[in-house]
Amino acid sequence: MYIAPEIISGKGTSRRLRDLPGRVLVTTMEIPWRLFQAQCDWTPHHVHFVTDMAQSTLDHINEQLPACDVVVGIGGGSSCDTAKYLAWKRDCRMVLVPTIVSVDAPLTNMIGVRVDATVRYVGDIFPRELVIDYDLIQQAPPELNRAGASDIASIHTALHDWSLAHERTGEPWDEKIAQEARECLNELDRNAEEVFQVTPKGIDTIVDLYRREVEFCTRIGTSRPEEGAEHLVAYHVEHLTRRHFLHGDLVGLGIFLMSRLQQNDHWWAVNLIRRCGLRYTAPEASPEEIRAALLGLRAFKNNADLFFSVVDTEEITEPFVDDALSALYGS
Ligand SMILES: [Zn+2]
Repeated sequence: MYIAPEIISGKGTSRRLRDLPGRVLVTTMEIPWRLFQAQCDWTPHHVHFVTDMAQSTLDHINEQLPACDVVVGIGGGSSCDTAKYLAWKRDCRMVLVPTIVSVDAPLTNMIGVRVDATVRYVGDIFPRELVIDYDLIQQAPPELNRAGASDIASIHTALHDWSLAHERTGEPWDEKIAQEARECLNELDRNAEEVFQVTPKGIDTIVDLYRREVEFCTRIGTSRPEEGAEHLVAYHVEHLTRRHFLHGDLVGLGIFLMSRLQQNDHWWAVNLIRRCGLRYTAPEASPEEIRAALLGLRAFKNNADLFFSVVDTEEITEPFVDDALSALYGS
């Protein structure tokens, strides 16, 4: 069942960590820990530097690290997910201090671990205490924070696919939740410039929209309202290239391409992701890789047995790809 987090946001809020009672175990990485220490002189019981998210690593550190009363995750997705793993296994108090807002890990109950280099979601621990410190988050490269808008903007293409699946396959549809998702998309639209500038309002917008999204997706038991064909594009690019990308870059690319395939207010969506500062041309992927990802998208989706979407109903042809790529790079 969903548990809402208590969110403390403001300038310098992470200094409150000094007041935590008991034995405190921090999970972090070098850069966020250095940034945090520059503004808060505090020596917790133990500091663990995260190396990787392999389940075997996590089980090993859980055994090796000292006993604690509180686990504090300071950093990005891996630091927060490591803290979630330890607090879940140890059934202890947990405080998360995200230093970038590029992914929703600080809000979700699941933990992304790697087994044989594939992401698998385990665990069930809703973060109850979240500290959002503008001073810390604003020191991260702005494109990392802007990338957080991608999993909200994806509602635009995801709702289209969910509705299509309902019409064509009879998959259950919930109009009330679809409406809540649309409101989140509109809220992002209203605050796109704040997100781009990474202002306190922009940071709070992303965190609050993640919170709402996680809440309604938990209530309905599916991520359908925010995960559609744009995510298939992202998964396929990573699968084909065997490289890791900034999630927001690939989801932004997916929104550009799939809103076009859906004929779903394409330029409205492009305008939104552009104003949020998403790098939707996915600069780390080559045009050839994007072309291959598109042409093989239906086969990839069928092989992996993924959800129904516009990829099932519309053929991705060579002319479509030519047009889409020239629009992408010309935009
Ligand atoms: Zn996503």
